[in-house]
Amino acid sequence: MSTHRIAVLAGDGIGQEVTPQAQKILQVVAKATGASFEFEAGLVGGAAIDATGGPIPESTLRLAEQSDAILFGAVGGPKWDDAPQERRPERGLLALRKELDLFANLRPARCFPMLVDSSPLKRSVVEGTDLMVVRELTGGLYFGEPRGREDFADGGARAVNTMAYTSREIERVARAAFDVAMKRRKRLASVDKANVLIVSQLWREVVTRVAKDYPQVQLEHVLVDNCAMALVHTPTHFDTIVTENTFGDILSDEAAILAGSMGMLPSASLGGRVGLYEPVHGTAPDIAGQGIANPIAAILSAAMLLRYSLGRGGDADRIDAAVLRVLEQGYRTRDVYADGTTLVGTTEMGDLIAREVERSY
Ligand code: NAD
Repeated sequence: MSTHRIAVLAGDGIGQEVTPQAQKILQVVAKATGASFEFEAGLVGGAAIDATGGPIPESTLRLAEQSDAILFGAVGGPKWDDAPQERRPERGLLALRKELDLFANLRPARCFPMLVDSSPLKRSVVEGTDLMVVRELTGGLYFGEPRGREDFADGGARAVNTMAYTSREIERVARAAFDVAMKRRKRLASVDKANVLIVSQLWREVVTRVAKDYPQVQLEHVLVDNCAMALVHTPTHFDTIVTENTFGDILSDEAAILAGSMGMLPSASLGGRVGLYEPVHGTAPDIAGQGIANPIAAILSAAMLLRYSLGRGGDADRIDAAVLRVLEQGYRTRDVYADGTTLVGTTEMGDLIAREVERSY
């Protein structure tokens, strides 16, 4: 059986605490199935800045390229907030996305039945929510040219960013989204601002063209402002959403709130040969080092790694089910704790899920 190389880039803050729990679950899968995973750790983010002066050393980039998948934690923290742009921790993640051509970011947002009361929205609104945001990740407003700032002699200034897309960039993320929708409930909402933006008109045109190759998928076009409202009004309307980089950044965070806690949300970034899997949350400096962070987002990210990079959907299903069972048994980390449930720490939650995964084989 071939060996799968997995780069483990834990990063900073609670990234250092939750990533080992996700790795532990993968080790349980390996032991139970005979699969062979080879883990290699690399420096990224603030940890890399402290050790090497930059947010991602060449050795980490090479490690990432030579791996089959990347298990990523989170980067950043107050210690590095004042660093110049090119030496900010998040530059490490941006460099990886670029180097690996990760153009599609998949963020599921699911309201777990037993956590419905952790959501800030009413049960009647949020119950049954199960959607996936596919965000374009390497183009659009965050990368378009021209970009920059000019300072005027009179003390004023002008700054510009550009939302630019080629039809090729739109087509590849649209195909990724249709593929995701095909594995789900076969409904896709393409979100744009075509009533105002020319780039959105091209987006709409290309997505409509790609749809012809996916006759089983029901496609609708939704304006981004309407989508933002609908997500908090009738989130159950949505199955798969595909959208531009900035719109996707905002909408996927909005969708995250539906699930109750950032600690529950995994993500995958796909594109080239190597996929990157990370919890949606950041380094949570307010709770870092206390052993209380919720490892479920990281563990569900490991499940996505098995599903999307290693073709091991059955093992991913077992992990998803194990997480549900542990929650059903009433165990909770502090972020989702409620009266009548049992409070556990990061490692204990990881152990409980590991035990359930082990039992499932
Ligand atoms: P955050 O996600 O780190 O934290 C937001 C809130 O959610 C905090 O109250 C935190 O305690 C809580 N939280 C997050 N994850 C949790 C978990 N697993 N268990 C329990 N509670 C959890 O966002 P932030 O505070 O805006 O950012 C903190 C740092 O993380 C910043 O430096 C930011 O740049 C960085 N960040 C990194 C990434 C990334 O690496 N992809 C993403 C977002 C933020």
